[in-house]
Amino acid sequence: MTDPPDRRLLLVHAHPDDESINNGATMAKYAAEGALVTLVTCTLGEEGEVIPPGLAHLAPDREDTLGPYRIGELAAAMRELGVTDHRFLGGPGRYRDSGMMGVEQNARPDCFWRAPLDEAAELLMEVIREVRPQVLVTYDPNGGYGHPDHIQAHRVAMRAAELAAADDRPELGRPHTVARIYWNCVQRSAIEAGFARLREAGRDIPFPGIAGADDVPGVVDDSEVAVIIDGGDRHFAAKTAAMRAHASQIAVDGPFFALSNDLGQPLFGAEHYRLADASAPPGGPADDLFAGMVIP
Ligand SMILES: [Zn+2]
Repeated sequence: MTDPPDRRLLLVHAHPDDESINNGATMAKYAAEGALVTLVTCTLGEEGEVIPPGLAHLAPDREDTLGPYRIGELAAAMRELGVTDHRFLGGPGRYRDSGMMGVEQNARPDCFWRAPLDEAAELLMEVIREVRPQVLVTYDPNGGYGHPDHIQAHRVAMRAAELAAADDRPELGRPHTVARIYWNCVQRSAIEAGFARLREAGRDIPFPGIAGADDVPGVVDDSEVAVIIDGGDRHFAAKTAAMRAHASQIAVDGPFFALSNDLGQPLFGAEHYRLADASAPPGGPADDLFAGMVIP
């Protein structure tokens, strides 16, 4: 048995594709540097809107086989990012995608939105106690944009970190305190610059429309950004390839992409993080999620 890597990063996401869109460059960078990168995805994304017409038969109102299909897309994305530790919360299919807020799927008893918080958090707690990450990345309390599964992933991640540090349930592993928790965000100045690039490209992009900064989840004032991970060309390329692997959900064109709403968005090689405890970063954003930590 070999020792685990010194630096360990855990990411908690709602659906396959969220990890590549939000954190693809970050995951590729830390994996390439030899850190342990663990991804926990909470649902199979069964309710996602399918973009390619050739895959329309997978949809929940037809064959309802999008979930298993997206397991394959996620596996391909992980290969592009060089990430080998990937799990579904409670195993594949334990929790079903809840659909957008307000749709009838929110009421399905097997959907993630309806999962008892402590039951789901305990499943994640076991992963935390096993992997023992110093850093945890998830969404903000609004899940970035109000999707029930993103909100629930936030709640489960925060509760699991609390449970993992407490002394109870020793049969589920030795207590572990996550040193730092980050929430995904997008720096306002970066998104504005990205949209300026997109408007310049104008007619050269193949999307019917262009999104606005309001369509992007988790935009915050620059002063709130604690860490910026710039993946550089190499990790940007890995992120782009990982997003392409989620072809049922994402259309990628050069440095731009669109989701099922067909609105073009800039694709960023730099990814932004704010601290869950809202502490202001002294001296501006760091360039490392582990900045200032003493790693044995
Ligand atoms: Zn999602």
